[in-house]
Amino acid sequence: MSTQRASVPSAATPQGAGRYAPSPSGELHLGNLRTALVAWLFARSSGRRFLVRIEDLDRARDAGTADAQLADLRALGIDWDSEPVLQTGRGDAHEAAIAQLSQAGLVYECTCTRKDILAAPTAPHAPPGAYPGTCRDLTEAERDSARARIAPRLPALRLRAPAGETRLGFDDLLLGHVEGDIDDLVLRRGDGTVAYNLAVVVDDAAMGIDQIVRGDDLASSTPRQILLQRLLGLPTPPAVSYAHVPLVLGPTGARLAKRDGAVTLTDLGSAGLSASAVLGMLAESLGLASPGERVTAAQLVARFDPATMPREPWVWRPASA
Ligand code: GLU
Repeated sequence: MSTQRASVPSAATPQGAGRYAPSPSGELHLGNLRTALVAWLFARSSGRRFLVRIEDLDRARDAGTADAQLADLRALGIDWDSEPVLQTGRGDAHEAAIAQLSQAGLVYECTCTRKDILAAPTAPHAPPGAYPGTCRDLTEAERDSARARIAPRLPALRLRAPAGETRLGFDDLLLGHVEGDIDDLVLRRGDGTVAYNLAVVVDDAAMGIDQIVRGDDLASSTPRQILLQRLLGLPTPPAVSYAHVPLVLGPTGARLAKRDGAVTLTDLGSAGLSASAVLGMLAESLGLASPGERVTAAQLVARFDPATMPREPWVWRPASA
């Protein structure tokens, strides 16, 4: 007899898994739904399991929103293989990862405010916006006085990134080779919230995710996440593959947002567009269906080919609804 943990499937599952990891910050709009569909198609067309993680670290009180998001995914025909994982339930694993890095001498306290960081002189060759290292090498006494200075605020925790390494590259299934900056990223904020980059890396590994598909606004975070994978001894590319999906733009050419009109399933439904019509529209935008064609998600799996995925953003205009 074997026992199974419902919330976090074993990382040892041989066939691997893809995932969709929404933040429960509101209803999913067409851009979110399209990325979720692409993530599901990538996973299903490659024989992977598909999992969902609710990234609720910042929004633990928004449980109703997460339910609505899951209902919308289901309405499009997107399914998943295990109970969705709640990121707020993973605190022990996040803290264990920070402790592991700390034991390796890779964590330090940082009392800088955003203003301090902007005002600090930057090191030569440092990537723009990189943490200037103000708190990296303080003595114990200096740390004590820095802590006292910001009380009752608490220090954040930062990663001590390997000296001299400022760039890291990876091969993206859609974007090709991507290079980005790495620096002393925040692991835990002063308010005690674990940082997105740490949580995502720890949770993807624990869930056995070996295919990460998400919006291309996150491509610049990936080098930092690969660095964390490496330092934590977790699988890195090519054992983990990445596909960053071009975003959906609204009629003004800016990233699609709720202000662009009826962009959620609820609003589109009120405008007379069923979930299956929305699926058809998303499929058309991905080159997987002809205009007006009614398709099922399962049919799309058979048609999906990463090589023919559009590499450009999809500009959504209400008239195309
Ligand atoms: N929670 C993030 C978002 O909704 C996605 C994180 C990820 O896919 O790694 O934008």
